[in-house]
Amino acid sequence: MTAVRPPLKSLDDALAELLAFAIPLEGVESVSTFEADGRVLAQDIVSALQVPPQDNSSMDGYAVRCADVAHAVGVLPVSQRIAAGTSGAPLAPNTVARIFTGAPIPSGADAVVMQEDCVLETSENLLSGGVRVTSQPELGQWIRRAGEDVKLGSVVLSKGELLTPAALGLAASIGMESVNVTRRPRVALFSTGDELVMPGAVAPEHMKPGAIYNSNRFFLRALLVRLGCEVTDVGIVPDQLDATVQALKQAAQNHDLILTSGGVSVGEEDHIKPAVQSLGALNLWQIAIKPGKPFAYGRVDDAHFIGLPGNPVSSFVTFLLLVRPFLRRLQGLVRVTPNSVAAQANFDWPKADKRREFLRVKRNAAGGLDLYPNQSSGVLTSAVWGDGLVDNPPGQTIRAGDLVQFIAFNEVLG
Ligand code: AMP
Ligand code: MG
Repeated sequence: MTAVRPPLKSLDDALAELLAFAIPLEGVESVSTFEADGRVLAQDIVSALQVPPQDNSSMDGYAVRCADVAHAVGVLPVSQRIAAGTSGAPLAPNTVARIFTGAPIPSGADAVVMQEDCVLETSENLLSGGVRVTSQPELGQWIRRAGEDVKLGSVVLSKGELLTPAALGLAASIGMESVNVTRRPRVALFSTGDELVMPGAVAPEHMKPGAIYNSNRFFLRALLVRLGCEVTDVGIVPDQLDATVQALKQAAQNHDLILTSGGVSVGEEDHIKPAVQSLGALNLWQIAIKPGKPFAYGRVDDAHFIGLPGNPVSSFVTFLLLVRPFLRRLQGLVRVTPNSVAAQANFDWPKADKRREFLRVKRNAAGGLDLYPNQSSGVLTSAVWGDGLVDNPPGQTIRAGDLVQFIAFNEVLG
């Protein structure tokens, strides 16, 4: 009689369970706005001023009163000059003010005429000269209104939001020299597998049969750093139970997460599983995705434990789909699920799989998607060639021309 295997968990169920464990870390840091790229805001940022602070010109030209232009026969004298960083006097009736981009609009003026639409009558001395406006301005033209970007008292950035480069600029635009962000997760990274050799340790021509270079360690560390983590790279843990237990125990003392790759397939002889079980709790999940079926979550003392599959593409994809949202939620990020967009497949995928598939594809110039020909979970080239994943539902074949859901790597790398 064959044992009844429990059904595989859906990705959505696994993610929901994982996020339920991801209680946001305590601890807030004040960091310079310059240094806050990629961090998560720990509190709302409320503006103590409006942006722009005053009505100002969006052109180099002349600030005018539209009615004066309409009635002017000939030339209006230039009564003042207002550069960015200065403030002008009220606009004298029947005159114009020379004005530059970013300079405050003088009171009384109700439009700006760009210099290209004016003829200067005396070019040497603007103040005693005059301007002929060649077309009737519209009320309010080329004026950026006070507060059109940010209103006084408004929440410009919210707690739980990711600080992007544009967000840093916005924070700076309301005078924030520093921002309060959540602390960085501390992650211990382990590789498992006695076949693994570090690049540099053995030259390619001297590699023993069966040995392979440790590639997961490199991309996992880079992915963790991109997510704002402090990484302790423990390296390759020897394939012995005692050593594994000791390494896990030590890492659990001062890390929020222990992340391993390899050795989580069912039935495999490895030491991570019994070691985690002896120190805490382990939930081995078989997730109905391809690549990336084996995945483990557990706890060692106060630290979270996540075990990723060893196959490089499986490790990469499960990191993006599960570890990234987990780590971002630890940092208090509210929106952790990536956007996917509909795009046209320019390939056939004639064999349906029971599992939800994540195919490595690349956008072409026409906006369609090309497929990397080898979708094996060991072929890391597919993840370098590709710029994203097709999220293909279980049991679904694809014909060229079909619309499919595309997740860009850019959506899940930060
Ligand atoms: P495992 O999940 O340990 O059964 O490993 C599955 C496959 O991934 C095996 O072919 C391993 O050799 C390979 N693998 C495991 N860890 C790594 C690693 N760090 N870098 C490259 N390949 C790995
Ligand atoms: Mg292994």
